[in-house]
Amino acid sequence: MSMSIGTHARRFTLIAFTALAISACEDGTASAEASAARPALDRGDFVVRPAVLESDDYTDLAAQLSEERWLEDVADVLNESLILPVDIGLRFAECGENNAYYIPEDREIQICIEMFEGERENFAAYYETEEEIEDAVNGSFLFTVFHEVGHALVDVLEIPFTGREEDTADSLAAWWLIDGDEGEESAIAGALSFYTDPEEATEVDESDFADEHSLSQQRYYTLTCLVYGSDTDKYANLLEEEWLTPERAEQCPAEFERLTSTWYTLLDAHLKE
Ligand SMILES: [Zn+2]
Repeated sequence: MSMSIGTHARRFTLIAFTALAISACEDGTASAEASAARPALDRGDFVVRPAVLESDDYTDLAAQLSEERWLEDVADVLNESLILPVDIGLRFAECGENNAYYIPEDREIQICIEMFEGERENFAAYYETEEEIEDAVNGSFLFTVFHEVGHALVDVLEIPFTGREEDTADSLAAWWLIDGDEGEESAIAGALSFYTDPEEATEVDESDFADEHSLSQQRYYTLTCLVYGSDTDKYANLLEEEWLTPERAEQCPAEFERLTSTWYTLLDAHLKE
């Protein structure tokens, strides 16, 4: 269950670039008048809270994650970029499953500490080297955190959406990671984590169709499409290696363009200069 500090440090270099790119990319497509008329006051931050553990099983891992600043670095990047009306908590919790939650009553994101071993198991079948597995786990962690950040922002900023909130949360995570420098690797890891989802890997049943989430395979294809659409030359291999169908691939540049313009518009009054 050991994490590579080197890999981890590289990842957070990437999301630091992500934050800078998001600030620098604001290109006036969103309405400057709207933000001038309704200035948002920065009254809140993402605040890391101590891990909530039910047993002694994860004491060492929780201490290591805290020392390596996994959540702290995410909070720093978010706080550098976003103007928030209230604090939003961010913590690891022992939940008994590989999952993550946003709890509106507490305005708190909980990332289940079990996700690290769960994702390692899922990725072990798809990657050969320890470094590849660790990169994928790190990327999947980032995608998961930013998905929950999507739920939190929908709540505290009262962001309007049509369709499903779960798809909105995926879309915020995809935008944040892909629109940064090289955070798209985390989006790809997030996509793969859906592809390797053992519960939907072989068959789906009625409960999957009734679920508030899109099917894991749909989430996988949408994320992959957005990465491909962000730069069809750089990610030509996603099409060549059949990560995507040619039919979907045709629409991906337009899907990515819509994604970025939507989020810059929705967050216009809440992005720092
Ligand atoms: Zn969700």
